[in-house]
Amino acid sequence: MIETANLSKHFGSIRAVDGIDLRVREGEVFALLGPNGAGKTTTVRMLAAILKPTTGWARVAGLDTVREARQVRQSVGLLTEAPGLYTRMRALEYLDFFGQLYRLPSRQRAARSEQLLRRFDLWDARHRRLGEYSKGMRQKLALVRAMLHDPLVLFLDEPTSAMDPYSARQVREAILELRRESRTIVLCTHNLSEAEALADRIAIIRRGRIAALGSISELKRRLLGDPLFELRLGTSLDGLLPLLEDLVQLREYGNNWARYTTPMPETVNPQLMQRLIEHGVPVITLSEVPRNLEEVYLRIVNDKQSDAETYHQLLEQGIT
Ligand code: ATP
Repeated sequence: MIETANLSKHFGSIRAVDGIDLRVREGEVFALLGPNGAGKTTTVRMLAAILKPTTGWARVAGLDTVREARQVRQSVGLLTEAPGLYTRMRALEYLDFFGQLYRLPSRQRAARSEQLLRRFDLWDARHRRLGEYSKGMRQKLALVRAMLHDPLVLFLDEPTSAMDPYSARQVREAILELRRESRTIVLCTHNLSEAEALADRIAIIRRGRIAALGSISELKRRLLGDPLFELRLGTSLDGLLPLLEDLVQLREYGNNWARYTTPMPETVNPQLMQRLIEHGVPVITLSEVPRNLEEVYLRIVNDKQSDAETYHQLLEQGIT
């Protein structure tokens, strides 16, 4: 659904985006992470056919973002970081106006506006001027606007940054629902737990380049090592250590618990459980010790090496 090659944007001497190669599948939620000024918004603006690349190219929904810019804009929805709403307009008027720009028939404009305003709890505020809306309400309305024409691809730049926890959850649920409907979503966010909850894959951008790309579990495994598990037994571990060590790498243990790693939990964990059951050992819990995306992010972003070195090393590890 999205493909880029050597996509770059320079503003004078600033290389805001510096050679990005990406492929995003239909129905995928793809998160762009990275420090302030890394180039996420500039990338999204090029993908949404709002900015022309300095070099390289991008295709979105099969369309070239420069030669077929108008069709690209019609196929995508964009929620920008600072959505500029027309403050003297009322919500219904505003959506009707954008619905006309998207050439939606009048009945469809009305039905879709009502459906989305109700969904995001803005229906009761539909006659209020947008200048009277709170920050979070404005952000929700901008999201409604981006979804109005049911686009194939949605670019969401910090979609929940101004929202209260309940509204943020509504938006996350909407994103997951859009994914079930095979819509493709590119999400720029600094909220790592949001990325972790939503994204099929992430790219960490640093100084205009992709420093890491992959699914979150892949990146965790590559950067933080094999997943860590904790086993708790209803009995002492005495005499059971050789049985564990035969299958997994023990990391630490106490009287009735052990932590271990294994590169192949899908096959090793069931084997281990079976062995324990065969020996009549009561297993209370077997769980993965959570490792958060923040650890991966900080490792990539705080890396003091040059980007070229980092990229080269990650390439060797198969991460980019
Ligand atoms: P943030 O997380 O703060 O939103 P970002 O990753 O989205 O950051 P961009 O907004 O893409 O970063 O900016 C990347 C770089 O390009 C920054 O150095 C920024 O100052 C610069 N930049 C962006 N737009 C322009 C512009 N119109 N003119 C000049 N420089 C720009």
